[in-house]
Order: sequence, then C-alpha cells, then structure tokens
Amino acid sequence: MNKSQKKSSPQLCGCGCGKKVKGALFARGHKNRHKSDLIKALCAGGYATARVEELGWNDDSTFNQHLKEYREGLAKKPLKVRLLSQQAA
Ligand SMILES: [Zn+2]
Repeated sequence: MNKSQKKSSPQLCGCGCGKKVKGALFARGHKNRHKSDLIKALCAGGYATARVEELGWNDDSTFNQHLKEYREGLAKKPLKVRLLSQQAA
C-alpha cells in the first residue's frame, strides 16, 4: 500500500514466532494466525486485551466477528477438542 515507507532493518514477526520480517508487522499468513491466537487467548482469560488494543484490532470488524464466532463455537465444544484444534493450528 505505502511504498514510500521503506524499512531496511528486519524486525521480529508480531505473532511472536521469532521469524524476521521486513517492512511489515507480520510474516506472510502470520497476521491471521496471530488473530486466531489472540481470539483464543481472549476467550481463555483476557490477558490479550492489551495486545489487541495495541494492534487496533478491537476496532477491527473482522476480528470482532471472528471473536464472536469463536466464542459461540466455543460454547458448543468440549475443552479437549479446543486444545487439540489449538495445537493443530
Ligand atoms: Zn510469525
């Protein structure tokens, strides 16, 4: 989108995987993964709230929709299934 904003030094991917990325907050595909992780974290205990606000995703309609869907899905799934699907993701 904004090509004038060039970053020469790589930084670590925002999802916490340790991968170095250039000119972006996340490695390819990791943004969505991080969203899923935060949604799960929010549902599990809420410590992720600050991170979500930091990224501005608390105002992200897609994020909120996914959070809502996950919460609704969560109510129907037993804990064991949730943990297994978390590992596979
Ligand atoms: Zn990553």
